[in-house]
Order: sequence, then C-alpha cells, then structure tokens
Amino acid sequence: MNKQQFKEMMGFAIKRCEAFEKKLTPKRQQVFEILLKANKPLSAYELTDQFNKQINTPILAMSVYRILGFLESVGLVHRLKLENKFIPCSYVNDDREHQLSMFLICSSCNKASEVNDLNNSVKSLFRELKMKGFTPATSQLEISGVCFGCQQSTANTIKKKDK
Ligand SMILES: [Zn+2]
Ligand SMILES: [Zn+2]
Repeated sequence: MNKQQFKEMMGFAIKRCEAFEKKLTPKRQQVFEILLKANKPLSAYELTDQFNKQINTPILAMSVYRILGFLESVGLVHRLKLENKFIPCSYVNDDREHQLSMFLICSSCNKASEVNDLNNSVKSLFRELKMKGFTPATSQLEISGVCFGCQQSTANTIKKKDK
C-alpha cells in the first residue's frame, strides 16, 4: 500500500466511524494503521508488541483488545476466529453489507484475503446448511490453504530444480 492509498484508506476509516457517530481517536487510528501496514493478520499480542515498538506511548494488551473490539464493531476490522487474529476490512471504501464473508488464509505466507464477490455461493451454502437443519454459529467462512503467490513460487522452485 503506497502513501496515497494509505491516506485514502484512513479517510474512509474516519468517515466509517462518523457514520456510526463514533470517533477514530489517535490510539484507534494507530492500531488500525499498524494492522493496515502489517500485510497479514495479527493477534492482539503481536499488535501490542508492534505498537510499543513503533509508538512512544506504550499501550497495554487490554487496551488493544478494547480498540480492536471497537474497530470490529464499526466494520473496519475482522477477527479471524480460527487463528484469533485480526485483519483490516478489504472493503473499507464501500458500504457493502457484511452479513456473510469469506476469508482465505494462506498457511504458507500467513496472509489472508477477504472475498466478497463469492457471496452468492456462500449464501447458498448457508441456505443449504439451514435446509439440513443446521444453524451455523458464524456468518464468516474461513478457509485455510495455499495462496496463488505461494503456489507460483513453489512451482518456480520446482522448475529451477528440474533444469
Ligand atoms: Zn470486510
Ligand atoms: Zn501465501
């Protein structure tokens, strides 16, 4: 994410909070910023650690938890339940509904991406579950696997070995 994109993202984040009549206080902003720049999901403890390395006023893990709870409540951040880690929402710039979301988590590089355009198939999956008489406790689907980038680099190493 370059500087310009980052500035835009922050602008959207501030607007999002305003829509909830809430404020993106400096601390909330700093936590969100660290998460945006991390490029992969972070646990609350990893976040606290990075916060205290980067920012002069130390913060307690408990406060980070509270801030993450706030960011989650306004939809700026999602919690990956399987790993108990947090990632910034990929759709901060649009008010898309988040009734169902899907996260693809790479077990090789630990990056996660949020997918919203598969919502129709996710929706029908949840519908089918209900038809089977099963009520999912979550509206969030998390799939672990290997991302495209990691598959490519494995393929390249294999090719090099063959030569
Ligand atoms: Zn999202
Ligand atoms: Zn990967």
